[in-house]
Amino acid sequence: MSIMDRFRKRNEKFAKDFDRGDAPMPPAERFVVLTCMDARLHPESFLGMEIGDAHVIRNAGGRASDDALRSLIISSRLLGTQEYAVIHHTDCGMLTFSNDDLRGKLAADTGSDASHMDFLPFSDLEESVRDDVRRIRNNPFIPPDVEVSGWVYDVKTGKLQEIVPVGR
Ligand code: ZN
Repeated sequence: MSIMDRFRKRNEKFAKDFDRGDAPMPPAERFVVLTCMDARLHPESFLGMEIGDAHVIRNAGGRASDDALRSLIISSRLLGTQEYAVIHHTDCGMLTFSNDDLRGKLAADTGSDASHMDFLPFSDLEESVRDDVRRIRNNPFIPPDVEVSGWVYDVKTGKLQEIVPVGR
């Protein structure tokens, strides 16, 4: 039995009570969360969001990578979102390695060269939030009236700490 087999059973239960099939495609709150893939983060829970409320974009670190920017541009330009929150978190795995560490491991494990890949690790949590907010604010394709804020989520307490106030 695969892992997905177990989760599929839960999906059958979920679908039985599902009543949100009428939610329109554009997010009702016109809001986007960019956050880390860390399994301890449930942004829909810790922000009290319902199905249809917001776009949630996740990757390792919650970084404003080229692909995250691609999603943010589509979100605002095509689906009308107006405010973004960048949420990094305490005890993030991205604080535990450098590009050289991971490139070295990949070379040792696979024999292939990953020196062209930037895995976007960071050593300062608040600085990484500021960097990503700045990168989004400076992107020429994000509409100028979209406001961006930056936060750190504490995995021990479930609380958000403001790092960059909402603004542009
Ligand atoms: Zn993380």
